Amino acid sequence: MSRFGNLVFSSSVMSAIDNPDSLVISDDPLHPANLIPELCRNFYQLGWVTGTGGGITIRQGNLVYIAPSGVQKERILPEHIFVLPYPQPAPSPHADRIFLRRPAKKLSESSCTPLFWNTFDMRDAGSCIHTHSQHAVMATLLWTGPTFTISHQMIKGVRIGGVGRALSYLDTLEVPIIENTPFEVDLKESMAEAMAKYPDAAGVLVRRHGVYVWGPSSSLSLFLL
Ligand SMILES: [Zn+2]
Repeated sequence: MSRFGNLVFSSSVMSAIDNPDSLVISDDPLHPANLIPELCRNFYQLGWVTGTGGGITIRQGNLVYIAPSGVQKERILPEHIFVLPYPQPAPSPHADRIFLRRPAKKLSESSCTPLFWNTFDMRDAGSCIHTHSQHAVMATLLWTGPTFTISHQMIKGVRIGGVGRALSYLDTLEVPIIENTPFEVDLKESMAEAMAKYPDAAGVLVRRHGVYVWGPSSSLSLFLL
C-alpha cells in the first residue's frame, strides 16, 4: 500500500501512477478503457446518444474510468478515457477533483461526473450510464408527476436500488423524475435528493432530457436501459 496525497492505494495502482497511460492500455476487451468506447459506439448505433450527448462511467474498486465530454460517442478511444481515484473529497473552490490519468489531447471529463459520483457514494454503484434516449424523454412527458411507475413483465430483472435483489412480475417500479436544468452539473443536488427519497429506484429520469441508470457493473446498468 502507498499514499497519493491523502489517498491510499495498492502498490500496483501506485506503479501505474508512474506511467498513467498504462491505466488505459489493455488487451482485455472487458477492461473499462476498452469497454467504454465499445458501449458508446453501441449506444450511438442504437440511437440512444447523438453527437456528444450522454455519458458513461465504470468504477472498479478504487479506480473510476470516465469518458470525455465533447467527443462524438462513436469516436471515443481508450486514450480519451480519464481515470480518477475513489473515494476522494468533493471538489470545492479550494480543491480540484483528483485525476490519476488525463488524456494527452486537451479534453474535459464528462459533465456528468458529479452525478456519477452520487451513484458511487449513495449506491456503491460499479457503473452509471446517462443517455438522451427518446423513450426516456417520452416517459417524462407522459408521466407529468414526480415519478414514473411500471409493473409486470418489463420490470423483471430490474434491481432494487440498482444494486439489490431483482424485482418480480408482482412488484411495481417507481422511478423519480427530476426537472431539467440548463447545465448537467446543476442536476447533482436534485438527483441526490431523489435518490434519498426513492431508495428502491434503479435510476433517475430527467424531464425532457434523458435518464441516469446505475448498477453493480456496466452490463447490469445496461440491462436497465
Ligand atoms: Zn444529458
